[in-house]
Amino acid sequence: MTAVSETDAEVTALPETFDSVSPITGGVVGTYRIDTAEDVATAVERARAATGFWTGLDFDGRAKRLLAWKHAIAKGIDELAAVVHRDTGKPIPDARLEIVLALDHIDWAAKNARKVLGPKKVRSTIATPDIISTVEYQQLGVVGVIGPWNYPVFTPMGSIAYALSAGNTVVFKPSEYSPGVGAWLVDRFAEVVPEADVFQLITGLGPTGAALCEAGVDKVAFTGSARTGKLVMRACSETLTPVVIEAGGKDPILVDIDADLDKAADAALWGAMSNAGQTCVGVERAYVHNAVLQPFLDLLVEKASEISAGPNEKIGPITMPGQLDVIRRHIDDALDRGGRALVGGRDAIDGNYVQPTILVDVPEDSLAVREETFGPTITVRGVDNMDEAIELANDTDYGLGSTVFSKRRGVELARRIRSGMTAVNSVISFAAVPGVPFGGIGNSGFGRIHGPDGLREFTTPKVISRRRFPAPLQLTSFGRTGRTDALVRLFAKVLHGRG
Ligand code: NAD
Repeated sequence: MTAVSETDAEVTALPETFDSVSPITGGVVGTYRIDTAEDVATAVERARAATGFWTGLDFDGRAKRLLAWKHAIAKGIDELAAVVHRDTGKPIPDARLEIVLALDHIDWAAKNARKVLGPKKVRSTIATPDIISTVEYQQLGVVGVIGPWNYPVFTPMGSIAYALSAGNTVVFKPSEYSPGVGAWLVDRFAEVVPEADVFQLITGLGPTGAALCEAGVDKVAFTGSARTGKLVMRACSETLTPVVIEAGGKDPILVDIDADLDKAADAALWGAMSNAGQTCVGVERAYVHNAVLQPFLDLLVEKASEISAGPNEKIGPITMPGQLDVIRRHIDDALDRGGRALVGGRDAIDGNYVQPTILVDVPEDSLAVREETFGPTITVRGVDNMDEAIELANDTDYGLGSTVFSKRRGVELARRIRSGMTAVNSVISFAAVPGVPFGGIGNSGFGRIHGPDGLREFTTPKVISRRRFPAPLQLTSFGRTGRTDALVRLFAKVLHGRG
């Protein structure tokens, strides 16, 4: 527990600290240590010392503890939602939804780790009938998890639950904008696993995260911006520490001529505006068949007029003050270059809140189309056909999520979008399915969390090949005979040289 108490402060010199500030009230909601490189190294040492205990529990023992943790989080869901709200300003119902999705992931990872990672027999070929092999996926050791603030429970949980289920211990650095959430999760874990430092918290700003990359962990799971992801990779390259990078996106929605327009507009609006647009897989660009563009826009505008941003509204504040400038720059650039705001616009930004903004006629090379906006805005553009939509959707450095609304061609179009995940006739639905991998390509990062791939991400494959009976042919011995060599030659021709 790294929150600083007054009693600590009286007896020892205060360590350097930072404040967590509510984006709603502007008031300080918590003060946390800035952990130094030394503190981080100590946490990693403690995590390493705990690996024996944690791996010793085996899959079933770990699953039992992880499910107990899940129960504790579920029981405290209102308290945790309040902490998320306090740290990030996220509306309480949205915070609860995020927590429920995270619970699903803990459950899935705990219950499926043995099946996915446990030993499996692999058959030999005719060359080695005497050999029976098994492959199993062993834990790496200590995993460092660096998290963002936008989904401070759900997002890091995609790494934490899977790394722990696979048998690793974890040192977690939550974002400096959501340290209270990280502390709450770690405290609940310590209550159900009091024996060892299996899951620990470190707090601080960027340099504390950088120190984690250099502290000798066996893997870093980073979620955040592509810019920081590159810094993380650079730091990890010094020690060849492997990384998973879950970075940002510029996700498109494609609306085909035969789409259910009401549902497509509803999905585009929610995908773009929920969580005040601060969603890595949030919808930021829409490409709509010209034949249905106007009715789609009418529906989108009508639905947008029913929501607004404010302290007790469906859209909360922008959590990170610096992001307001990015959003302002994107809206201004779009409008300066011939774009029009059908809803919102230049005066959408008021204090820490941004009202829904729908932009049309925005050039494809403008900031609002090319860079991650991370605000409640969407650009909408008409296309003559879905080939054009695919081309524009794929013309991005990112490749995280995407959405297609089409009655007949949904899966076909989905396959052609260059992104890690595509939702068809729904939006962001893949994130709520624990059994499927989550992650992107290009500037959206690499590696996967969630599902079997997410479990394997935190392991290393281990092969054991065992001889069951004397080999009919001695292949790997200096005692190999001329007769064996002749048979090898024959096998090559018979088995692989025909057809
Ligand atoms: P960020 O990159 O600013 O920070 C992320 C984390 O990295 C924080 O904990 C921060 O303290 C830490 N950090 C900063 N500098 C560091 C350094 N040099 N070395 C190591 N760690 C460092 O991102 P953010 O603003 O917290 O999060 C928003 C971004 O995260 C958006 O781009 C969003 O799209 C992305 N995101 C991606 C996913 C995904 O799964 N792909 C999920 C959620 C958010």
